[in-house]
Amino acid sequence: MKCPTCKTEELVLSSLENNLTSRQCGKCGGNWIPSFEYWKWREQHKESLPENFAGQPVPPNPTTGALIAKLCPECNTILIKYKVGHGVNFSIDQCSNCGGVWFDKDEWEALKARSLHDDVYMIFTAPWQSQVRSEESRRAQEEIYRRKFGEEGFDEIQRMKEWIDGHPRKQEIIAYLMSG
Ligand SMILES: [Zn+2]
Ligand SMILES: [Zn+2]
Repeated sequence: MKCPTCKTEELVLSSLENNLTSRQCGKCGGNWIPSFEYWKWREQHKESLPENFAGQPVPPNPTTGALIAKLCPECNTILIKYKVGHGVNFSIDQCSNCGGVWFDKDEWEALKARSLHDDVYMIFTAPWQSQVRSEESRRAQEEIYRRKFGEEGFDEIQRMKEWIDGHPRKQEIIAYLMSG
């Protein structure tokens, strides 16, 4: 098996967790997890850990944002990128044919810091991906308003909005504001 990122480097057997075998690239530090290995490991943990939003994910490795398509080391199919979302700013690659997953260096650790490593297959689902997209468009929208009102102005508006949203006489406050 060859590394999907380095192309020529041979992957070697490694262990990412207790009972979780991966094929690791000694050059770039990426890990390939065949689908059956993942499920074998996953089945030993009955319940999924709750997502830990406090866990700071490791920043993405700048050297691994390769533009060249990665190929599955097992079946040579093009790997598909899935954005993790939830404040994690990198994508992981999955083979749509055999289901194996490629993690660039430190990505497994970053997901683990957020307790997302035990729900990796959720990231590939349509509901997860549609949530990632709405998260992105909300952030883009916010960015537009931030630029329009300035950092300080935007924060002030946010603060007012939260106060109004939580107020029992919300409608009347809005009506008053609109009356000029
Ligand atoms: Zn490599
Ligand atoms: Zn494959």
